[in-house]
Amino acid sequence: MLIDGHGRAVNYLRISLTERCNFRCQYCMPEKPFSWVPKENLLSFEELFLFVKVGIDEGITKIRLTGGEPLLRENLDGFVKMIHDYKPDIDLALTTNAFLLESVAQRLKDAGLKRLNISLDTLKPDVAHKIAGKDVLSHVLKGIDKALEVGLGVKINMVPLKGINDNDIIDVMEYCMERNIKVRFIEYMENRHAVESLRGMHGREILEKVKEKYTIHALGREGASPSFNYYIEENGYEFGLIDPHKHDFCESCNRIRLTAEGMLIPCLYFDEALSIAKAVKAGDIEGASQVLAQVLKDKPKENRWSEEDFKQEDISSRAFYETGG
Ligand code: SAM
Ligand code: SF4
Repeated sequence: MLIDGHGRAVNYLRISLTERCNFRCQYCMPEKPFSWVPKENLLSFEELFLFVKVGIDEGITKIRLTGGEPLLRENLDGFVKMIHDYKPDIDLALTTNAFLLESVAQRLKDAGLKRLNISLDTLKPDVAHKIAGKDVLSHVLKGIDKALEVGLGVKINMVPLKGINDNDIIDVMEYCMERNIKVRFIEYMENRHAVESLRGMHGREILEKVKEKYTIHALGREGASPSFNYYIEENGYEFGLIDPHKHDFCESCNRIRLTAEGMLIPCLYFDEALSIAKAVKAGDIEGASQVLAQVLKDKPKENRWSEEDFKQEDISSRAFYETGG
């Protein structure tokens, strides 16, 4: 079992497969970054897999593939199959914007993918265009339909932003209700790469919106999940709220993050990270395991997003498209 410096068990590895993306979301990557990581610095699937095996052998039971947009990486189903064949009962999931999903959902399912988290911030084409920087909604909705058709588990992520999609919360929730899939509202996390004027809705404001139409009851946090769950009295529907500005979010943190170029990151907020690239390129299992042990030792107790009203020092310099959210 992997234990961090604060006694928390770590069993969840998130792997960002690329920082590149076909969207330009206002809260993540509104503009193409000044420079991308050169393609030759990206770890190959074989190199990533060496680290995946180290992680699984030492106690990782859950892996999420993310990005940037992970569906931009060629032969993704091949990588999914490598992980699945090594440990078929691993909880293997993918986070995607779903733009390219329709044509690959079946292949991913066949390769062993179990679940998808899909970002859906609105059901209005013009608002989706405004958030993502291009006309994306119809492709995204087709991707969701296909994922459900082939039997992949689906959850929806929505980031409610003041003055942009704050009136779409009920719409997105009812879309999910009709399909019996869970929506998780994620508080906007301030970061230096996002549009500066953006203001996210606080968790309590998101709940107020839901309460305009429904009666809700708190259920609690699901294990080590960052999502606090609620249910709707009228029909029993359950939804989640991810509120990183509250620090009870961190108490049960069970995750580490790996970037596409091999930086192992102990916390989404901070810049600190150590590279596994040298070790995995040399096939050095012991070296990779040592980096993992050091990163766990260094894992901070909590992030620094504050619950108070927005403060300059609460802005993280970590890019979500690099860490994978
Ligand atoms: N491209 C994929 C997608 O959008 O689903 C995967 C990567 S994206 C970085 C992962 C998740 O992070 C998405 O659900 C996205 O909404 C969320 N995210 C990105 N920037 C965020 C921010 N500043 N605050 C909160 N969530 C954010
Ligand atoms: Fe791309 Fe996802 Fe970031 Fe949007 S949130 S820019 S889809 S990586």
